[in-house]
Amino acid sequence: MSDVFQFMKLSRNPGDKVEASVRKIEFKEIYQPLHAVDAADQAGRCLSCGNPYCEWQCPVHNYIPNWLKLVEEGRLFEAAELSHQTNSLPEICGRVCPQDRLCEGACTLNQGGFGAVSIGSIEKYITDEAFKAGWRPDMSKVVWTDKTVGVIGAGPAGLACADVLVRNGVKAVVYDRYEEIGGLLTFGIPEFKLEKDVIRRRRAILEGMGVEFVLNTEIGKDVSIETLLEKHDAIFMGMGAYKFMKGGFPGEDSPGVLEALPYLINNVRQSMGTLPGDETHISMKGKRVLVLGGGDTAMDCNRTAIRQGAKRVICAYRRDEGNMPGSKREVANAKEEGVEFLWNRQPVAIEPMIGGTLAVKLAETRLGAPDAKGRCNAELVHGSGEIIEFDHVIVAFGFQVEAADWFERQGITVASNGRTLVSGAMGKRYQTDNSRVFAGGDMVRGADLVVRAVFEGRQAADEMLDFLSQPR
Ligand code: FAD
Ligand code: SF4
Repeated sequence: MSDVFQFMKLSRNPGDKVEASVRKIEFKEIYQPLHAVDAADQAGRCLSCGNPYCEWQCPVHNYIPNWLKLVEEGRLFEAAELSHQTNSLPEICGRVCPQDRLCEGACTLNQGGFGAVSIGSIEKYITDEAFKAGWRPDMSKVVWTDKTVGVIGAGPAGLACADVLVRNGVKAVVYDRYEEIGGLLTFGIPEFKLEKDVIRRRRAILEGMGVEFVLNTEIGKDVSIETLLEKHDAIFMGMGAYKFMKGGFPGEDSPGVLEALPYLINNVRQSMGTLPGDETHISMKGKRVLVLGGGDTAMDCNRTAIRQGAKRVICAYRRDEGNMPGSKREVANAKEEGVEFLWNRQPVAIEPMIGGTLAVKLAETRLGAPDAKGRCNAELVHGSGEIIEFDHVIVAFGFQVEAADWFERQGITVASNGRTLVSGAMGKRYQTDNSRVFAGGDMVRGADLVVRAVFEGRQAADEMLDFLSQPR
């Protein structure tokens, strides 16, 4: 591969033009991959609209029509290079983004009723195939500086931040309390949506680029934040949102009632062979399972329980189907796999029964007045309800952000809902009130999407590069 991009400006903002960056590419190799016909056919459907709505609906503002054109022409390596110019984890976003709500929902063909170009699949295809064919991010022009950044959290926000930093010659050391990188990519999203090999491959790529991972290390417990601040010029925090939201009804703490995330993590660790010795694998084989919630986490629990061989899986949600927060594709998948849905139902009590089963009282709800965000509240229909017996209940009501105990000591402030406050000291969008500490992803936005965490990690890295270049 010959000349490459200028990597100094990696994130893309509305209004940035694509032409300048594309012209910088001068590749000698043109790779015609196997099985390229389908991808090229799909890519060829793109109308190259004058104002590509897909790009602006994509949170990282991918150069979608441009890389579709490169795929159509069989110029895979160039497509991979361009795709990485805006997205640090394109093969992962291509797999897990709710495209129906983002790029593909905005595709002009979709608006016209012709079916969107399968943008997500092509994005995944580009990187998968390019990696297979030996393409790697080109670091040959990187001039290493003496600056180092400590990144807390190896989730998508932290990985994206580290990616941009090393491409600009800043050493990135990523610390995570888990045994593997990925955050919720590894320990939340199940294997059937995102193969763990894909994350292991990305780890090898990042390590090859110079990112260092320090795993099984919790900041605040195994290593203090003060040590990290001494060691590094600046810190990026991408620590996620992990505080479990409870339903607040009687019997919620009964044996057999499980929190969604520990259930999913237990299953991932079982399949990775890293389940701690003192933990037993939770299997729903032959069990009657109730999943409470209507988001993507609930869908992942439904589909995991089905795969474990549950006898019956019912998912109860307090609003109607049209008002579910989860991706429509995920609900459709769950239905297809045999999950039964009870709409407009809310748990009001769980009673443990002799023999270890659970009697769950589900009351009916109806949609009431809209809240400040325009979403209708679910109101209980008094006197309604039925009692159903289950072996397990999995509660998936979502997650909130929790501040670490060292935030206060380091002058990092949080909002009343726990989210880390940014746009701090020097007017930077991702800088906390401690000028050497930046933050992004779920811990700033609240529980959200992989692609938005990637975007924030990249944006924060751009700001940190600017911060590190200032005399101090
Ligand atoms: P995380 O991915 O949560 O990563 C944070 C990392 O920080 C973790 O690895 C954690 O161990 C580490 N950490 C925290 N504190 C410390 C500390 N003190 N020291 C060291 N390490 C620390 N989004 C989608 O777009 N598509 C989906 O299909 C999808 N499915 C989901 C399914 C589930 C079950 C869940 C829970 C979420 C899903 N999401 C999905 C949301 C998505 O995973 C998150 O929005 C995204 O991972 C947030 O990235 P992050 O980097 O901010 O945080
Ligand atoms: Fe679509 Fe997500 Fe890829 Fe953007 S990152 S093009 S939203 S799949």
